[in-house]
Amino acid sequence: MEDLKSIIRDVPDFPKKGILFKDITTLLADAKSFQRMVDLLANRYIGEKIDKVVGVEARGFIIGAALAYKLGAGIVLVRKPGKLPSETFRKSYALEYGTDTLEIHTDAIQKGERVLIADDLLATGGTMAAVVDMVNELGGEIFECCFMAELEFLEGKKRLPEGKTFSLLKF
Ligand code: IMP
Repeated sequence: MEDLKSIIRDVPDFPKKGILFKDITTLLADAKSFQRMVDLLANRYIGEKIDKVVGVEARGFIIGAALAYKLGAGIVLVRKPGKLPSETFRKSYALEYGTDTLEIHTDAIQKGERVLIADDLLATGGTMAAVVDMVNELGGEIFECCFMAELEFLEGKKRLPEGKTFSLLKF
């Protein structure tokens, strides 16, 4: 994993002073690394019955869509407010750099469907905890929350359902 970790670029003072941002676009832009990252994540779930992969705007769409394709699952979008055209369920939450709101279509997940949630990075866990609530609210059964990378020192895992978090790269 060290090669995949080392291709992620550190950007100091983004989005504000004192934050060391993990810029995963360098990994996405490298053909071999992108393919390897998707394969490593997908291999964990191949053979499991996953009905829907939920991707979190925006980088979670990239990982979520690649996983859904590999797993033969549908891809469901969790978006910033005002972007989804039909009836939505909305959730506000605190995140590392302020507060935010996310939306999901109310009919995107059927009761009892097995759901894998995907995002690029787990920091404080606020974003994913909100998405977990949304999926639960719609009656989905959460299989796992998966991340390309995790900032372990922020202990975001503690805010997520126990034993249902997986991250490929740990910082
Ligand atoms: P959390 O809610 O604090 O866990 O923050 C996670 C969300 O913020 C994810 O959707 C990430 O895309 C984004 N995020 C927070 N910190 C970083 C970072 O260092 N690199 C990339 N994305 C980040």
